[in-house]
Amino acid sequence: MRLTVIGSAGSVAGPDNPASCYVLEADDAGRTWRIVMDLGSGAVGPLQSLTDPARLDGVLISHGHPDHCADLASLSVWCRYGPSAGEELPAIPLWGPVGIDARVRELEGATDDAGLAPFDWAPLEPGETRALGPFAVTAFAAWHPVPALAYRIEGPAERGGRAVLTFTGDTDLSDEVVEAARDADLLLAEAGWAHREVNPPGIHLTGDQAGLLASRASARRLVVTHVASWVDPAGTLEQARRHAPSAALAAPGVRFDV
Ligand SMILES: [Zn+2]
Ligand SMILES: [Zn+2]
Repeated sequence: MRLTVIGSAGSVAGPDNPASCYVLEADDAGRTWRIVMDLGSGAVGPLQSLTDPARLDGVLISHGHPDHCADLASLSVWCRYGPSAGEELPAIPLWGPVGIDARVRELEGATDDAGLAPFDWAPLEPGETRALGPFAVTAFAAWHPVPALAYRIEGPAERGGRAVLTFTGDTDLSDEVVEAARDADLLLAEAGWAHREVNPPGIHLTGDQAGLLASRASARRLVVTHVASWVDPAGTLEQARRHAPSAALAAPGVRFDV
C-alpha cells in the first residue's frame, strides 16, 4: 500500500495545506486501487493532481466535522458536472459513521439526494469489517464529540504479503483506538491539541499522546497529522518522539510505503 498525504491541516485548512485527506493506493488484480480517507476542506483541488477524483474506488469518512468531510460536496459536483460526467462511472462507495449522508445534504444545501447520487452510501458500525477491493476495512469507535470512527485497513504490503495501516480520525486516547492501532505497520495519528498540559477530554490527542498511542499499540511507524495550522508542528513532533523516536510528520504530497 502507498499512503499519499493530500492535506494534513487540523481543524481548518492552512495557507498551503488542505484539511484532512489521504489517498491509499494498492496494486491488485492488474490495476491500481485508490481510496480516500477523509475529504477535508480544500482537498479536492490537489487531489486532482494524483487522480481523477470521479474514479476513486472508495471514500472513508472519519466523522462529520468540516475539516474531514466538507469536500464531499466538491467531489459530488466534480462527479456530476466535471470532465468525466458523461461517462456513467460507477457510484463511489462512501462509508462512515451514521449521519454522513445527512451531512452531504447539508453541505449541498439540498432537500433531495442529488448530491448523494455519485455515492453508494453505507454507514459503518464500530467493530464491522468490510472488503473494498484489496482492502479490508475495520471500523473502531473514536472518542470525539460527534459520531466518529478510526479505521484499521489491511491490504497488500509494498514488499509483499499483507500490511496494516491505522488512521485515527479525530479522537482522544482510548482503549478502542489502541486496539485499532495494535501492531500496525503504519499509524497515522492525529495530534490536534497544541502543547498544553491539560485539555478537555474526549476531543483530540496531543503530540505526546499520539506517541503514547503508538507505543502502547506497538505500532511499527508513527506519522503525526492534523496539527492545527496555528501550531508549530516541530513542537508536536518533538512530543511524539518522546515515545516513538522515529515518528514522522504528515505534509502535503508526502508519500509513505506501507
Ligand atoms: Zn479535525
Ligand atoms: Zn473533529
